[in-house]
Amino acid sequence: MRIYMDYNATSPLRRGVQRAVAHHLETNGGNPSSIHEEGRRARRALDEVRRQVAQVIGAAAGEVVLVGSATEANNLALKGWLGAAGGGHLITSAIEHPSVMETARWCADASSAVTHGLASVDGLGRVDPDELDPAACYSVMAANNEVGVLQDIPAIAEACHAHGGVLHVDAAQALGRVPVDVGAWGADLVTLSSHKAGGPSGAGALWVRPGVELAAQLHGGHQERNRRGGTENVAAAVGFGVACDVILGDFTAEATQVAALRDRLWSGVVAAVPDVVRLGHPERTLPNTLAVAFPGASGEVLLMGLDLAGVSASSGSACTAGSLEPSAAVLAMGVSDPVARSVVRFSLGHLSTEVEVDAVLRLLPEVVRRARTEVAA
Ligand code: PLP
Repeated sequence: MRIYMDYNATSPLRRGVQRAVAHHLETNGGNPSSIHEEGRRARRALDEVRRQVAQVIGAAAGEVVLVGSATEANNLALKGWLGAAGGGHLITSAIEHPSVMETARWCADASSAVTHGLASVDGLGRVDPDELDPAACYSVMAANNEVGVLQDIPAIAEACHAHGGVLHVDAAQALGRVPVDVGAWGADLVTLSSHKAGGPSGAGALWVRPGVELAAQLHGGHQERNRRGGTENVAAAVGFGVACDVILGDFTAEATQVAALRDRLWSGVVAAVPDVVRLGHPERTLPNTLAVAFPGASGEVLLMGLDLAGVSASSGSACTAGSLEPSAAVLAMGVSDPVARSVVRFSLGHLSTEVEVDAVLRLLPEVVRRARTEVAA
């Protein structure tokens, strides 16, 4: 039996998603830009997805730009906003995902009209809204992928607007785990990912507050009201829409259940493994994420040991797994380099069970003991 505890990398599909995608592929081969019957059917399917995505975040369908991934949404948000504004100072938090951080660096390298600064975080990973410097554009993630810390987005939005700036929020890890309410947040641009939320990969969305101008980044067709050229991945989008519907129905009970499993895992780790450190905020955190440092062990060796024992976890962001560098986000939280190299992220979700948690707790002490011996040797 394999135990999957890497939902923050990709979540298993939610109920009904696979069937909806298969049904779409079997019955609807049209291009949504075509005017014939098949095209119109595909267009209606996309319109329905836009409605489903909008509903789950408290927005209007016309405000949702469908894209291929959260990475693309983050690129469109930052490059698109800076492009339309003709540049400006961009501040990102110090713990953003590479799809924000690298995009921000690229924008500053590519144009003398763009500068990039960082907003620091405290030891628990939180941005202090009162410490934000003036800027034209800010990008602060709702929930961190590596340690799960949640930011106070309404307070951050207020501070950004007081400086006259716009706020982009990467909510790729938030959707399906904590409420995403664009009205309550007060943000201007919000990124969503399908495959983190139980839909298929190949779909994502950028919510754009009415009146916020974006320069298109993919040029060609006039899709998505000229904001994203290219034939849409309708099948993946259909699956994303179904995942949003499921989230709308199940979300609170599921979050409570997943948080209880996460807490069971942490209590068990503390009881069974000496000298462990939990990263991130103890309360303001995603219900599903537990990032633990095992000082004296290498995160990579721990992951390999867990994998051999049938457990899939991660050392942080999937994009940096396999690299020997410690996570920049974890270092930005003031964690020392050797401790940052010993972090394992367990991320749970809608299919996780107590049986799985208890099985991990039985095998983990031996995996850690061996990994620590290897480092010591
Ligand atoms: N933003 C965050 C916070 C993420 O965790 C990830 C993926 O790990 C992304 C963006 C990129 O998501 P996608 O795989 O949909 O491009």
